[in-house]
Amino acid sequence: MARLCLILFGSPGSGKGTQAKLLKESLGIAHISTGDMLRERVASGDEIGRSVASLMQAGELVPDETVNRLVEERIEQPDCANGFILDGYPRTVQQAKLLAELLVLRPIRTIVVHLVVDYNVIIERISGRRQCPACGSLFGIRSNAPRTPGVCDNDGMKLVVRDDDREEVVRERLRAYEQQTAPVLAFFKKSGVPSWNVTAAGIAPQVIAQEIEALVRKERGEAA
Ligand code: AMP
Repeated sequence: MARLCLILFGSPGSGKGTQAKLLKESLGIAHISTGDMLRERVASGDEIGRSVASLMQAGELVPDETVNRLVEERIEQPDCANGFILDGYPRTVQQAKLLAELLVLRPIRTIVVHLVVDYNVIIERISGRRQCPACGSLFGIRSNAPRTPGVCDNDGMKLVVRDDDREEVVRERLRAYEQQTAPVLAFFKKSGVPSWNVTAAGIAPQVIAQEIEALVRKERGEAA
């Protein structure tokens, strides 16, 4: 079966990370989150981390060359042999072009799933979002709440508010999405990559993941 590249597309707070974690298990492929990779670099204080910290804190995109290099290296790792889910990448048309060049060299099936959520829901979701500093899992204070308030279900760590989930930063991230990221969808459609819209609000994350899994299996020619 062809290797799979599942691109989860959508604005900040549309549920890409939550879906990627569920689909990683059901599809048995790797989860690549450029946001998580960059946050790890910032936490480690290495050269890349130091160069991107202030941009991330302001909710702006980091340079294409930096993320492109991280992704290029990451998809060569052994856990990507069956395929991978891209969460938060590509976010500019330049990144999408590089990805297309990388993928054209490989026997790989690329599918785009666009998680569609109303902006009012996004703002409400992000302001209630909490993340585990250890495993990266995301929870909400209203929906998708952890079993014990403020504590990660997976490892018992105390949940935190991500630095860039503050309201003024969220607005900047949504602006960056509209200006730089939304055009990426048109690029994929024009390139003939199968692209699906999935409604991702008001429905349990597990139900959304099942819908995406069925789409992927159909695209890969597998029985649902
Ligand atoms: P995320 O967790 O995906 O919302 O990403 C958090 C932040 O990391 C973004 O606001 C950007 O500053 C940076 N970032 C993550 N992925 C990318 C990307 N593909 N291109 C540029 N910046 C990115």
